[in-house]
Amino acid sequence: MTINDYKFAGKKAIVRVDFNVPLDENGKITDDTRIRGALPTLKKVLEEGGSLILMSHMGKPKGKVNPKMSLSQIVDAVSEKLGTPVVFVDDCQKADTQAAALKPGEVLLLENLRFYPEEEGKPVGIDKADPAYDEAKKAMKASQKDFAKHLASYADCYINDAFGTAHRKHASTAVIADYFDADNKMLGLLMEKEVQAVDNVLSNIKRPFVAIMGGSKVSSKIGIIENLLGKVDKLILCGGMTYTFMKAHGGNIGNSIVELDKLDVALGVEDMAKKNGVELVLGVDSVVGDKFANDANSQICPSMAIPEGWEGLDAGPETRKKFADAIKGAKTILWNGPAGVFEFDNFAAGSKAVADAIAEATNEGAFSLIGGGDSVACINKFGLADQVSYISTGGGALLEAIEGKVLPGIAAIKGE
Ligand code: AMP
Repeated sequence: MTINDYKFAGKKAIVRVDFNVPLDENGKITDDTRIRGALPTLKKVLEEGGSLILMSHMGKPKGKVNPKMSLSQIVDAVSEKLGTPVVFVDDCQKADTQAAALKPGEVLLLENLRFYPEEEGKPVGIDKADPAYDEAKKAMKASQKDFAKHLASYADCYINDAFGTAHRKHASTAVIADYFDADNKMLGLLMEKEVQAVDNVLSNIKRPFVAIMGGSKVSSKIGIIENLLGKVDKLILCGGMTYTFMKAHGGNIGNSIVELDKLDVALGVEDMAKKNGVELVLGVDSVVGDKFANDANSQICPSMAIPEGWEGLDAGPETRKKFADAIKGAKTILWNGPAGVFEFDNFAAGSKAVADAIAEATNEGAFSLIGGGDSVACINKFGLADQVSYISTGGGALLEAIEGKVLPGIAAIKGE
């Protein structure tokens, strides 16, 4: 079923949203992007005469009640954005009466699902090495089913609109779908947009396709890099992971971040790129600092010849130009991971050059997908959010989707 075909009039919809918003020490929301992201789905259900039971996690309470992670703190914000009162249920497993009494247009918000260990389905208080662990896990999986079944009993249909947790096989993101038939479960509008955006860079590709992978470590991105090497025309590797490549070629990298046990992985990436006819673009010069701080002394030097006592913190001017040239003319662009320590204003020029080039190519008709917390933060920092095609709300979920993995939250609905 799709959300656009479903008739919500008179129906109760239980919706998995991602209301895991950041809060300050007074419980005030500091960034409401995730709530805003869910609004199109929620408003659609209400406008068509349906009612809503909203469920989400917040933080990592590890199966215990923790008032600091209570969703009661966001009730007013959700209510204000939806333009209708929201009734809070302080125990997600005790909403039977309120759910049964829901009338069209009414909204319930359930307390943090992760106050119950069943949501994540991991046994608590027992070590994996314990001989009793397997039994405990089996028992937990059984109670996870009961937990999900109970949530399902509140509603006529299930919508998953929480892309950020779609890579998790949790009670509310996947198991619950077993208790609805195919005609009564669907992806939400945000989720559909995310799936479409991933499809644009994985199957529906317009060429040339340029991917930019950055960040601190090659090890955390290797799965994606390998998958992309089968798809892209050019792959720009930037940020801290650069220095593992330089080291693998015998470069002097001073104090730069490096994974000495991944030198062969770096060389393997280069080999695979060659075999697949992918142009691998690596930096040639770096802005180096004499400490890991914004106020470090800095100089520019070749990335293969960084003096002792200095570390590569940003892409140098020649590299920035090389990256911008590589992005120019692209028709599909994927960016994950900054090109330097962009959090320090003095070392943000590399990431800015990448962001500017992406905005320019998008303006010329490219489809650009930006994903992963840090690259999204970069785009926002440089004020370019409205000049790229799509900013994903999913960190881990997006990366796993790009690695080519099936996301349990999507498979549970689409049956793939
Ligand atoms: P990741 O979590 O692997 O995507 O890495 C993101 C982090 O990498 C950001 O916080 C950046 O500050 C950091 N980063 C980027 N370039 C460098 C670098 N040259 N040295 C150290 N950290 C870096």
